[in-house]
Amino acid sequence: MPFSQVYPMKTDILVLGAGIVGVSAAIHLQGRGRSVVLADRGEPGGGTSYGNAGLIERSSVIPYAFPRQLGAIVKYALNNSSDVRYDPAYLPRIASWLARYWWHSSPSNLEKATRALLPLIEASVSEHDKLIGRAGAADLIRERGWMSFYKDPRRFEAARAEAESLSAYGLATRVLEGREFLALEPAFAATGSRIVGGVHWLDPKTVTDPQALTVAYANLFTTAGGKIVRADASTLREEKNGWSITTAEGEVIEAAEVVVALGPQSGLIFRKLGYPLPMAIKRGYHRHYAQREGQPLGHPVVDEEAGYVLAPMARGIRLTTGIEFASPDAPPNTIQISRAEDHARALFPLGEPVEATPWLGLRPCLPDMRPVIGPAPRHRSLWFNFGHAHHGLTLGPVSGRLLAEQMAGNDTFADPRPFHPHRFL
Ligand SMILES: Cc1cc2nc3c(=O)[nH]c(=O)nc-3n(C[C@H](O)[C@H](O)[C@H](O)COP(=O)(O)OP(=O)(O)OC[C@H]3O[C@@H](n4cnc5c(N)ncnc54)[C@H](O)[C@@H]3O)c2cc1C
Repeated sequence: MPFSQVYPMKTDILVLGAGIVGVSAAIHLQGRGRSVVLADRGEPGGGTSYGNAGLIERSSVIPYAFPRQLGAIVKYALNNSSDVRYDPAYLPRIASWLARYWWHSSPSNLEKATRALLPLIEASVSEHDKLIGRAGAADLIRERGWMSFYKDPRRFEAARAEAESLSAYGLATRVLEGREFLALEPAFAATGSRIVGGVHWLDPKTVTDPQALTVAYANLFTTAGGKIVRADASTLREEKNGWSITTAEGEVIEAAEVVVALGPQSGLIFRKLGYPLPMAIKRGYHRHYAQREGQPLGHPVVDEEAGYVLAPMARGIRLTTGIEFASPDAPPNTIQISRAEDHARALFPLGEPVEATPWLGLRPCLPDMRPVIGPAPRHRSLWFNFGHAHHGLTLGPVSGRLLAEQMAGNDTFADPRPFHPHRFL
C-alpha cells in the first residue's frame, strides 16, 4: 500500500478548479496564511479561461441583460443573427431559466444587479494589476483599452449617448468619428468598409493570452508554496472533520474547508450536495486567424451590430462570438462563428484560420447576472465561487479577494450579500 494512502496529505483549504476564478481565490487564501491545495482534472486555465476575448472589462458597469425592446426580441426570435443563436429543441429545457433572466432584467432589477457588481467591476483592473506585478506577467497585458465600431449612423448616435451617460460611473471614453477610428485601425480601410464611428473604452486592460495569464498566476501560487494536483472533483467526499479528494495518482488529500470554483462544471458538486442553484450555460466560440502582412489589428474591437469581438492575441487574431443557447454537451455547431466570420471579413482583412476547428467554451450564468460567492448555507466548511458569466476573466481576482475575506471572517471590501447562494434557496 503506498505511503500516501496510509497518511493522507492534509491542508487547510482545497480549491476545486484551476480556472482564473479558482487560481485567483487560491492566491488570496494563501495570502491570508492558509495552506491551500488547488485541484483540477486538467491544466490551469484550460477551461473557459483559455478561450475568452481577453478583456478585463472595467467599463462593463451594466451587466448583460435579457433584451426587453420588441425589435431586439423579434430579431433574436428569427434565430439568424450572429450575436445570439439558439437550438430550438433546447429552448423548452431552459424556458424557466430564461423567464427568470427576463424578470431580473427589468430596469429596477438591473439597477440592483449593477449596484451590487459595481464595487467588483471598479476594483477589477487594480486587483489584476497586483497579481500581474507579482507574477511578472506584464508582457501579456495591453493598456490601450478596446473599441466598439458602427456602420449604422443611428446605432452610432445611440452608442455616443450611452458612452456619455456612462460617464456618471467615472469611465474614461472617447467617441470616435469614422475617420478617427480608421486612423487608429487603418487595416479596416483596406476593405473599403464604411465605418461611421466608434467608442474607445480606455479603462479596460486586455490580455494577449488568457490561459497564459492564468498559468502565470498559478505559478505565483506554487512559487509561494501552494500545491496543484491533478484530480477529478467527483471524488470529493464529506468526512467527519472536513473533506477529502483522491488525486489521479491515488493520493488522498484531506482539507478542513473546500471551495467550489469549477466554472461551468460547478453543478457537479453543488447539485450532489443538495443545492438547486439555477445555473445555465451560454455557449461561445472562438477561432484564430492569421494576420495579413502590413495589416495589423492594434486593439480588440467589437462589432456591436453583428455581435462579435476581434482581438489581437498571441496565436493570431481571435474572433469570439456572442451567445449560443444549446445543450452544454451538444457537439459544436459552426453556424454562429461562420456568420461572425462573414461579417468580420467584409470589414477587416483577416488571414486564413489558424486552427482546423473552432473552440467552444461554456459561460456559467445565474439569472440575476451575479456570480455566487460565499458560504454554502447547509455545510459549515463549504464555499462557492462560480457563475461569472461574461466577466470571469475580469472578476477572477476581485472575487478571490471577496471570498478570502469572508472565509477569514474579515471585513469585506464590498457587500458580499448580493452574491450569497442564499438568494436562490
Ligand atoms: C467566447 C467567450 C468570450 C469571453 N470573453 C470574456 C472577456 O473578454 N472578459 C471576461 O472577463 N470574461 C470573458 N468570458 C467569460 C470568462 O471566460 C469566464 O467567465 C471565465 O473563464 C470563468 O472562469 P472559471 O475559472 O470560473 O471557469 P473555468 O475557466 O472553466 O475553470 C474551471 C476549471 O474547473 C476544471 N474542472 C471542471 N470539471 C472538473 C472536474 N470534474 N474535476 C476537476 N476539475 C474540473 C476545469 O478543468 C477548469 O480548469 C468569455 C467567455 C467566452 C466563452
